[in-house]
Amino acid sequence: MTNEHFDALVVGAGISGIGAGYHLRTTCPGRTYAILEARDDIGGTWDLFRYPGIRSDSDMYTLGYSFKPWKGPKAIADGWSILEYLRQTVNEHGIARQIRFGHRVKRASWSSEQARWTVEVERGERNEVVHFTCNFLFMCSGYYDYAQGYAPDFPGTERFAGRIVHPQKWPEAFDYAGKRVVVIGSGATAVTLVPAMATTAARVTMLQRSPTYIISLPGEDPIANWLRRRLPARVAYGITRWKNVLLALWFYRFCRRHPTRARALVTKWLRNDLGPDYDVGTHFNPRYNPWEQRLCLVPDSDLFKTMREGRASVVTDQIETFTEKGLKLRSGAELEADVIVTATGLNLRFLGGLEATLDGVRVDFAKTFNYKGMMFSDVPNLALAIGYTNASWTLKAELICRYVCRLLNHMAKTGTRQCTPRLRDPDLEPSPFLDLTSGYVQRAIHMFPKQGSKRPWKLHQNYALDLMMLRYGKVDDGVMEFSNPAIPVACQEEATGLVAAG
Ligand SMILES: Cc1cc2nc3c(=O)[nH]c(=O)nc-3n(C[C@H](O)[C@H](O)[C@H](O)COP(=O)(O)OP(=O)(O)OC[C@H]3O[C@@H](n4cnc5c(N)ncnc54)[C@H](O)[C@@H]3O)c2cc1C
Repeated sequence: MTNEHFDALVVGAGISGIGAGYHLRTTCPGRTYAILEARDDIGGTWDLFRYPGIRSDSDMYTLGYSFKPWKGPKAIADGWSILEYLRQTVNEHGIARQIRFGHRVKRASWSSEQARWTVEVERGERNEVVHFTCNFLFMCSGYYDYAQGYAPDFPGTERFAGRIVHPQKWPEAFDYAGKRVVVIGSGATAVTLVPAMATTAARVTMLQRSPTYIISLPGEDPIANWLRRRLPARVAYGITRWKNVLLALWFYRFCRRHPTRARALVTKWLRNDLGPDYDVGTHFNPRYNPWEQRLCLVPDSDLFKTMREGRASVVTDQIETFTEKGLKLRSGAELEADVIVTATGLNLRFLGGLEATLDGVRVDFAKTFNYKGMMFSDVPNLALAIGYTNASWTLKAELICRYVCRLLNHMAKTGTRQCTPRLRDPDLEPSPFLDLTSGYVQRAIHMFPKQGSKRPWKLHQNYALDLMMLRYGKVDDGVMEFSNPAIPVACQEEATGLVAAG
């Protein structure tokens, strides 16, 4: 069977893969591409997670695409509205017909002789193996394992008479009205679940081992809505987007440079929200400084309001064991529950689990260095769309999409078929890919590439710097090697077609 060939293959139809489709179509119009998606629908994160209250925890003016203004009234949007926005995007921009659902990418092997990837895919429920070839492989596969969320091995779970639920596998039409609920965890998912479940549950307790920084933002952005009423949608969106980018950048830098002042400020906001008698010191005073781990956002103080109304509470303690009736804690206290939600996080997964070989030799990505936050040392024609940890994902993912297009156009213009970031700097100091101390990062960071101490191997986590480097910086920067391996006779016709297409 002949393999289907594309100039670019995109893996994943979430925010990043759909963005990739848009930019490939508009910036590289002569190039062929397809999006391979393991699931049966678009949306990735925003389709997978179905727990009560699921919503963004960053504003939609920066989580939305640069090319499609977010017109919803809410800055912090629910999962359904985000999915609807993505559906509109694929339909409006002719991306839907490029997506192949039920295609799980397993392996990719690079042939230097042919300057192309052969991609092995399992298709459909029967896992039929099919192959594709492409010149450029663009992984938009997200950052976590879709099969399984993180669930620590708590003792005694088999004794618990109630129901244990993980947010990543929320049961359809699950009715918890009138039930006593314990949510284990205090990350973004837990702080979303608690007020949402408290609307019908008998009571909800958020059980945390240690506190997290939580700050409240208005669910609607009055400046954005004011601008939208007066200016064309694109102009208003652009201004709000930059306002939010700069505000987030400023706050992140403030937290990292002045941790004591930042801690005091966040504590003051919390006291305002929870009242002078609340024990902020025990439940909302983390061991780490602001932004050493991701900050949690809640819209319109919904979590704190629910707590003030007595419908939810926070317990800071550790689980000794599950019991028939609920949980026994290290302090000796017991929490009775009908439902226990393990909002204990995600398992990170690099490159959607892809196994890659270069001319038959397996690539160990943990030994590579990231290049411009998107490619890997000595690995040709492969990029990964990975977003920010301290700002909206889409800001960076879109910069990467555009850069991939620039690379493809540069290769077409110069008649080259291979681009490989080459690490030739002997003084480069390695450091972990992500500098967050969060458990989910620390559990998996050894599988990720390293970052270097200098450009272009350093990961910025800074939109303004990345904008300069990825949008306006040179693609032929002296580190990226553009080459044109000898073309075997059998491939000459197709390869000539590729160069001509640009
Ligand atoms: C609950 C939750 C809330 C979040 N909220 C925010 C937020 O408010 N702001 C923010 O900036 N970020 C947030 N994030 C991070 C979020 O994942 C990104 O915002 C964004 O949705 C990621 O988009 P993506 O397309 O890169 O990845 P994903 O949404 O993860 O999509 C990846 C797609 O690739 C597919 N795929 C993966 N591997 C393969 C393979 N081998 N073969 C074929 N297909 C594959 C998956 O099926 C999936 O459809 C949140 C994450 C979670 C889990």
